[in-house]
Order: sequence, then C-alpha cells, then structure tokens
Amino acid sequence: MKKIKLHVARYICVVLALFTFLSFQNIEAQNKKKKNKKDAATEAPAPPVKKEKTIAELVKTSRKIDGLFPIYQDTITGSLQMIVSKNQIDKEFIYFSQIADGVLDAGRVIRGSYMGSEVFKIEKYFDKIEFVIQNTSFYFDPENPLSKSKDANISNGNIASITIAAQDKAKGLYLIKADDLFLAETLAQIKRPSSPGESPTSFKLGNLNKDKTKINAINNYAENTNLEVEYVYSSPSILNKGSNAIADGRNVSIKVFHSLIAMPNNDYEERFDDPRVGYFTTQVDDKTTTNSIPYRDLIHRWNLIKKDPNAAISEPVEPITWWIENSTPLEWRETIANAVLQWNVAFEKAGFKNALVVKIQPDDATWDAGDLRYNVLRWTSSPEPPFGGYGPSFVNPKTGQILGADIMLEFAHFTNRVFYDKIYSLASLDAPFETSENKQTDYTYCSLGHQLQEEVMFANATAMASANSDYQMERIKKESMTALIMHEVGHTLGLNHNMKASQLYSPEQLNDASFIEGKCLTASVMDYAALNVTRDRSKQGQYDDVAVGPYDIWAIQLGYKPFASESEHQALLSESTKPEHIFGNDADDMRTPGKAIDPRVNVSDQSNDQIAWSIDRIELSNDLMKTVKTKFRKQGESYQELRRVYYLLSGQKGSAANTISRFIGGVYVDRAMAGQTGETQPYTPVSLKDQKRAMGALSKYIFAPDAFDVPNDLFNYLAMQRRGFNFRTPEDPKIHNQVLTYQKNVLNHLLHYNTLQRISDSELYGNAYKLSAFMTDLNNAIFKADINGTVNSFRQNLQLEYTNMLTAMLTGKLSSSYSNTAKSMALYNLKNIRTMANATGDIASIAHKLHLRTLIDNVLEEVK
Ligand SMILES: [Zn+2]
Repeated sequence: MKKIKLHVARYICVVLALFTFLSFQNIEAQNKKKKNKKDAATEAPAPPVKKEKTIAELVKTSRKIDGLFPIYQDTITGSLQMIVSKNQIDKEFIYFSQIADGVLDAGRVIRGSYMGSEVFKIEKYFDKIEFVIQNTSFYFDPENPLSKSKDANISNGNIASITIAAQDKAKGLYLIKADDLFLAETLAQIKRPSSPGESPTSFKLGNLNKDKTKINAINNYAENTNLEVEYVYSSPSILNKGSNAIADGRNVSIKVFHSLIAMPNNDYEERFDDPRVGYFTTQVDDKTTTNSIPYRDLIHRWNLIKKDPNAAISEPVEPITWWIENSTPLEWRETIANAVLQWNVAFEKAGFKNALVVKIQPDDATWDAGDLRYNVLRWTSSPEPPFGGYGPSFVNPKTGQILGADIMLEFAHFTNRVFYDKIYSLASLDAPFETSENKQTDYTYCSLGHQLQEEVMFANATAMASANSDYQMERIKKESMTALIMHEVGHTLGLNHNMKASQLYSPEQLNDASFIEGKCLTASVMDYAALNVTRDRSKQGQYDDVAVGPYDIWAIQLGYKPFASESEHQALLSESTKPEHIFGNDADDMRTPGKAIDPRVNVSDQSNDQIAWSIDRIELSNDLMKTVKTKFRKQGESYQELRRVYYLLSGQKGSAANTISRFIGGVYVDRAMAGQTGETQPYTPVSLKDQKRAMGALSKYIFAPDAFDVPNDLFNYLAMQRRGFNFRTPEDPKIHNQVLTYQKNVLNHLLHYNTLQRISDSELYGNAYKLSAFMTDLNNAIFKADINGTVNSFRQNLQLEYTNMLTAMLTGKLSSSYSNTAKSMALYNLKNIRTMANATGDIASIAHKLHLRTLIDNVLEEVK
C-alpha cells in the first residue's frame, strides 16, 4: 500500500512540474495571441458571426451506411459520425458485444466469446447526447406507490456524453462524432486489469493505441447497428512475449463486434425461475413484495410462438434456425445436423413442430459467422484451445428473451492431442488448503469438451485394446459428437447443466446393450457424464447419448409450452420428484473438494451406484495398464502415444477416486417443495453402509501399498518425442508426484474443514458414520498395512503428506476454520502415528518413520 502511495505521489510531482511548465508556455503563447489580435483589430473589421455547420456539410466527404443508427465514415480519414434521431432520445436499446478474434493470453478474449448484453438509454443533456447503461436488477410493481422511488440508491452508468456536432431541426436528427464511442473501450472493457498478486512476469497487454485501433467492418440494419473494431494494445518494451498465438507481443490485436440493437417490440411472455429445473437466468429482485423470497429471476428462452395457437402441435412463427458454418469438416455435417434436430423431440412435447431448423452456410455466403442475426455452429482450430464446445447466447436483460446464440467447436478436442503431464500437474495440489471458496465462477462457461475429450480418449484406448476396434472407434466418434452438439444446443435453448442426471440408470442397465440402445445414457444431455465403457467387452453397447433425455423433454416443456393456466404450469413443475427429472447443477456439484454436499451431483461419473461404477472403472484401467506396453507400442513411431495412454489410465483412477470420496460425509439434497407428491426431506445423510463402502474402496484402490502398481518396465518406455529445443525439461515422468496428486486430491476433500464440519453436524440428523470412526478408519487405511515394517516409496509419500495435513489442521494457516472436534481427532491420530512409527523395516523406512516422528514432535511442541 505504502509503495503505491509513494508511486502516486511521485507521479503527481511529475505531473505538477509538467503542468507548471506547460502553463508557463501557455501564458506566453496567449500573450502573443493577444498581441496579434490587438494589431488585427485596429486594421480590419470584426469577423462575421460563426455560422453553425449543417449535417450535410459535416458529412460531405463521408460514406453513409444506413440502419438503426445511420453511420457516416469519412472516406479520407476513416473517422466515424453517427446520427441519433429525436425519437430515439429517452428510449432504451440493447448493447451486445462479442469477441471476433483475440488471444487466450489476454484472458478469455477469444473468437466467439460473448461479453454479455446490457440495456442502455439515450439521453439528451443540453448540447450533448448521453449513453446511459440501465440497472435492470430490480423490479418495482408499477401499481405500488413505492415504485415512485425506484431510482433510490441505484446507479445507472453514463458511459459516454458526446457534444452534438450538428443538427437537423426539421427532421429531428443529431449528428455526433462516434470515434470515441467505438474506438475506445467506452462500450465495453476489453483489456483485463491486472489483478493483485499477479506475477510481474506474466503476459500483459500494452495500452490501447488510438492511432492503430480501427474499424474493420460496419454492418447496419433497421433493427441493429454492428461494428467490428480492431483494438490494438501497444507497449514499447515487454518482458513476456506471450504464446505462439502472438506475432509481436508489443502489438496485440483484439477484434470485437459491437451491436446496438432496437429493443424488441413483441408480446414475448416472461417466465420465472424455479429451483427444481435448470434454466439460465437474469437475476431480478422484486422490491415491492412482502414475500421473504423476493426472487423474480427471468429464465432465458426464445420467443417461440405457435403459427396456429389452437393446434395441439404447430410449427412456430419463427423457428430457431441453426447454420452449420462452411468451415465445418464435411464428414461431420450430417451428424451435427441430426444432433441439433434431436431437440425437436422435446419441442413436440411442448407443442411445437420443427422448432429447430438446420441449414448449411453456403461457401459463397456474404455474411460472416459472427453476424448476430445468424445462429452458427462454428469450427476453429485455435492454439491452446480452452474448451471443446461452448454454447453462449445473449438475451434482452429486461425480459430474458434469447436474441441470438452461437456454438464454438474446437477441432483439437476431436483429436488425441492433449498434454497429460500438464493435466495432472494442474490438478490443484493444495486447493482447499490455500484457496478461497468464494471464487466467482462463470456458470455459462462450458467445459464439456475437455471432459469429453478425456472420456473419448479413454474409450478409444479401451476399444483399441479390444477386438473390433475400428468399428468401436467409429461409434465412439459419432456418438460423442452427437452428445456434445446436443449439450451445447441445450445451452443455447436456455438450459444450464444437470450434473445429477447420471443417476437415472443402474450399472446393470448400462451394461445391457439392447436396453440402452437409442437412449440418452442419463436423464439429460446437459450432464458431464462419463462415457459408457464396459469392462466386459462383450457387453459393450452405446458409448454416449444419441437422444435427448427425459429431463430435457420435461425442462423444455417448462420453458416453452404455452400453458393455458398457471395451475397447468405448476402441475408440470410438481413432476420434479419423478426419478427421471432429477436435477442439480454446477452450483451443487462436488467436483471441487469441500464445495458441495450431495455426492449424486457430480461430473465424470455414471449410474445410480457411483461407488460400484467407479470401482469398475478403476479395475478396467488396471486391466488395461497390464497390457498397455504391448498394445500401444507402434512400429516406427515414438513412445509418446504410450506415455499419453499411461497418464490417461492413471488419470481415470484419480477421477473415479474423487467420485467415491464424495460419499463420505455426503448429504443427499431433495429440492421438492413442501407437500409435493414424492417429496422426501431436504437433507438425508448418506447411509453408514455406503460411507463405509466408499472408505473401503479408497483404502483398497487409492491408499493401499499396491494401489498404483504397474509392470515396472512400463516406466522405461514413458518417453516424449523430442521437438527442437521447446521440449519439457527434465523430460522424465514424475511418477511419485503424479500418484501423490491423485491421493492428495482425495484427501483434500476428506480433510476439508467443510467435510469434517458436516460429518459432525450431520451426526445430529442421521449420519451414523461418526467423525471419530471415519478419522480412525482413514488413519488405518494410510498406516496399518505397513507401518510395522517396510514402507514403499508411494506409501512414504502418502503417509508424510497425510501427516502434514493433520498438523496443518492444528497449526496451519487455515487451522481456525477447523472445528474443535476435528482438531481433537487430528491430534489423536498424530499421537497414534507417533506411537506406531517405530524404527522397523529397511533403512529408507526407518528414515521415513524418523521423519514422521520428528514432524509430529514438532507440532506437539507447538500445540502444548
Ligand atoms: Zn455445458
């Protein structure tokens, strides 16, 4: 803080000095001017009164692009002027922006990223036109007198105040200069500010360079005015040049589409959110209700109107049209089109026929895929793609009406190109112990592509190692693409994730090829479920979703069916308790250690018996690991593929272990409303039997001395292919580190203060697996098998890390977050370990146990 102040002070000094200097110069110049004026006055008559210029005069050298806001671009300088008409004053419009092209180095500013929509009002203040962003977060019933004070303590945002350059009184037109509106970051903040704690060596964009920033395209229509602007950020010298995506780190271009859109004038029907179904929403607080739950959250949905309102099933007046971008690989087009149209099954239940229509962008199309009037399934093959699929939409913030959408697909995610070393090392080693849990998450961001790619590679590896592999791999490719497209289209229809959907079928049903044929593997395509890969290869059926699920069909009805009455709507909502309508989204899912409570809401899992399913997946990975060296050694090729499969298989074990761990201390959540048919109770702790089963599985498959055994000569072959000098060094596989990462990820959840707190708390309402029993079982799982003899190097690592975690509970940075009961058990376990860790076994084991005892003695000294 002090440093900053000093810095500011120094800056002020420089500014003052400069100001003094400039002022002095100014005075001199003014004196000269005055002198000249005086001379002139004595010699010539007063100049004529300056005549105001007309619009016609000011746009004389400009090209007019007519539309919602007519734009004039000077044909010599390229500068912009814009017309605002009198009848647009005090009216509301929508502003929307998206990235046309950017670089990942600058944050998530990459092609197709939506930057959200806002409502703005145009106001006139004396000789100025103002653009004011409206606050849409609150609702006041217009009938309520309180609505008179609806502006109290609410700030709108005046983003621009521009002097009127000329006006046409007869036609009611104002001309303003528009360069500052579009060529600066006036409408939207594009450059991400550096955050405190950011590494000084990380890549940074330079300052916005006004001379280099320019307009690339202007597309003006009656309903919207669109400009593509290329912002150039320059810096004279840089420390970090950025990734290969950047040609010159001193000059980086980010292209942005800005759209000013007329407020839709239609009879769109607003619908409000309900916690039992998952739509994206615009959050609105009702400030005039006395209800204790003042939510008036608008769900995001298209304005679908029946052509024939009386027909049970009718085509919509305007269907949701999807365009397959002309850059799409030809062999994928039919699969993609079929996947999009799967949603029509759901819309038919909601009363609409052909609600979605698919077209292919002609190769000679004159429109760009970034044109907001078209919903486009787009393809890219970017450097370091951050996602495999991303399905953003933008809405009218006043109503929730979806106005446009796109889907971005990354080619890399349909290949085997992934850097597994990176993935495991990114796994947050110290996550719950170091980070805050209130991290802001963007829930519109979809990472299904990433997760799916891992699953597809795992399924491929399994198929490659079994008979009939070409047929199997073709099937995996087609089904996973279908599932990805259905999922991303689902987002653009307004649906968010349903991470609970994989609870629908049993492991036996998934292993029954004829039962699962033609179905969605879960209740919803909006899950991040694991692919269905059977350990018994003779039972292999469908790998991924080929149809939308029963939850999807129900949810689409809730969002789109024209209900005859509110009671009809409520009756459909009350079907939320049906097993096929289960729902829980990212906010509830348990992928992050310590975050949520219901183990059924999770990613990368399958079936209504996740523990059994996870064990099956671990055993399948172990089976494959035994033959991986012979199956993936390819004549004439390097061993990089073998290394990739090794990381893939061990990663699957790590992921399955996370799923199992969430059952310990887990609490099932039921969001049914009181009195609803099928309601259980909001909170039901996981049974003792299942918690014990989870502990048993972790003990055997993750913590046991032989849990990560592989044929040792496999390690001799885990080599990367050399590439120039840009090659990971040192290159050898970090085997111990990798195994410890998977084990620590599990412990990070089990020993998270939230998990331990919940185990104690839920003992009060049905949890029979007491904290003392759980922590004793965990201690035994990590020490009992070998503490009296030789401890292998994987176990030494595990035992030491676990001991460190127990000591951190007592004396670490976050020790105050732990309950006293959890701390007592940590102390109790440490003393037990101290007693058990005798000088037995080989020299390495004796040294390891000495290390353990020393650590424990130190902490006991500290807490004395
Ligand atoms: Zn998603």
